[in-house]
Amino acid sequence: MSECLFCKIAAGEIPSSKVYEDEICYAFHDIDPQAPAHFLVIPKAHIGSVAEVNGDNAGVVGHIFTVIAKVCQELGLESYRVVSNIGEQAGQSVFHLHFHVLSGRDMTWPPG
Ligand code: 5GP
Ligand code: ZN
Repeated sequence: MSECLFCKIAAGEIPSSKVYEDEICYAFHDIDPQAPAHFLVIPKAHIGSVAEVNGDNAGVVGHIFTVIAKVCQELGLESYRVVSNIGEQAGQSVFHLHFHVLSGRDMTWPPG
């Protein structure tokens, strides 16, 4: 989508701090980190949120989770939280599917 911020980041049209990249997904540091380690993993193809995951694109989500596990292992992150906000009430502000990966501090439950 031409006006989507994360489509532009995935395409390299807007600069970001890369953590990992392959042909399916892109991982980069969050611009406003909420933990000592905080990066986002996004599909390169536009999906609005988890609410748009279906039988045709679920493989992309599975791939993203294998990437999260691999990258966290390589970074030495043993405990971390993976979050995806869906909709404004849940805190979604960018409407391109992304998984937050947060680590490096104590976390509370339930989340706010
Ligand atoms: P959401 O609020 O949709 O769950 O998460 C969006 C995330 O994207 C936020 O944590 C926000 O800090 C991050 N973000 C927004 N704009 C940019 C940007 O231009 N670059 C980077 N690296 N992160 C961004
Ligand atoms: Zn997009």
